[in-house]
Amino acid sequence: MESLERPHLRRVIPPIVDRVAMISVHTSPFAQLGGRDTGGMNVYVRDLSRNLADRGVKVDIFTRRTDRQVPAIADVHEGVRLINIEAGPPEPVDKDALFCSLPDFASEMAYLSQREGTTYDVIHGHYWLSGWAGKLLQNYWDAPLVMMFHTLAHLKNEVASNGARETMLRLQVESRLMDIADTIITANPDEQAELIARLGPNANRISLVPPGIDLNLFQPGDSAAARRALDLPTGPLVLFVGRIDPVKGIDTLFEGFHHLLRSQNWGGQPPRLVFVGGLIRIDGTGSTMDADLQRLARRAEELGLADSVLFRGSQPRQLLPLYYNAVDVCAVPSRYESFGLVAVEAMACGTPIVASSVGGLRFSIEDGVSGLLVPHSEPTALSDALYRVLSDHGLRSRMQVGARQAAVRYSWQTITSAMLRVYERVVTREPAAEPLQDYASVS
Ligand code: UDP
Repeated sequence: MESLERPHLRRVIPPIVDRVAMISVHTSPFAQLGGRDTGGMNVYVRDLSRNLADRGVKVDIFTRRTDRQVPAIADVHEGVRLINIEAGPPEPVDKDALFCSLPDFASEMAYLSQREGTTYDVIHGHYWLSGWAGKLLQNYWDAPLVMMFHTLAHLKNEVASNGARETMLRLQVESRLMDIADTIITANPDEQAELIARLGPNANRISLVPPGIDLNLFQPGDSAAARRALDLPTGPLVLFVGRIDPVKGIDTLFEGFHHLLRSQNWGGQPPRLVFVGGLIRIDGTGSTMDADLQRLARRAEELGLADSVLFRGSQPRQLLPLYYNAVDVCAVPSRYESFGLVAVEAMACGTPIVASSVGGLRFSIEDGVSGLLVPHSEPTALSDALYRVLSDHGLRSRMQVGARQAAVRYSWQTITSAMLRVYERVVTREPAAEPLQDYASVS
């Protein structure tokens, strides 16, 4: 029988999506994690780019140059380049001051692509600043803009404590991007519903695709061995991993932990809180915490927690599976989370979660099965849930299994396929009849 394989055809038909411009203006996906502006988005852009490249799509990640010493272009993975664009001073600049550098950023990107002769099928903007850079680029390139906000200012403002409100400029730019982006990707069904209500008849531009998790890196492992490797004590351990940002609910965590210690009789082994995040500089003379961590250490002392909180500073990603495996429970007390990678990474390691019932956490965690959900900003509720997990061995064992099972839904294989469907649809300008659930497993 004649073979149906026609390799000559495969060679001449170009792929629908050959090259993607991934824009992350205000923070490099390869920066040290756990700082004020380096967290889930950095991990996401890096991992999505690598996974797309492994499926044959070339990816250029554009970020703003913040250091004169780094090369303009670096190959960071087969098929992925990191491109440092000159726009504004080549040093760290507060992200709220970057808006006026975006026209330079976009024109430098356009100039580079013209010089190289490189064309892009999709512009994928992350966060409002990069979205705006993407919009400006459309003055030079005929490519659709796929927009991912990561967080929305009006949702952050709803839960913001005094002084931490997002700017009017950001609110206005996000609103404009919602109107003009060719596709908007949301990470959780609540955000999707909110955008559908806002966009009305144009809601078919919205797609739901949550981030993926590296299930090979984040796996269950031996707790005692992990504690030895990390030099962590025996006894009950609660873990926090994240940026030091008011939205993360660290104030609630400290107050809840204070309540947890005072409200129960722990005998000789009270629980400790392992805190991963913030920057600790270590040199010949010892270690120095950055200003944010110093403030948290003072707060811990005021609450009588000086010996109970183990500040570890930000940790390299490769060590995080050990942290998740070492502890009994991971706390995610955020006021808001668009997705919440930390919760799902911990779940992938079979670690139960106690989390606020907000944003993406409401959908990734099943209450009583993979973790416990509590109202945000309520220290006593957080403390009670932590106590339940720490004191009920049966519940903890059941949730360890439930957690891993829940996390498996977020494999990069599934998520990359969903993202490729979004790209292909936007490139072929195929109209969608209704808002799309490109990721089928979220209900
Ligand atoms: N992270 C890390 N080292 C740290 C702190 C955080 O690798 O010291 C990573 C963490 O594993 C997760 C990401 O940063 O992948 C934080 O993402 P999440 O969605 O939880 O929070 P976001 O930063 O987006 O608010």
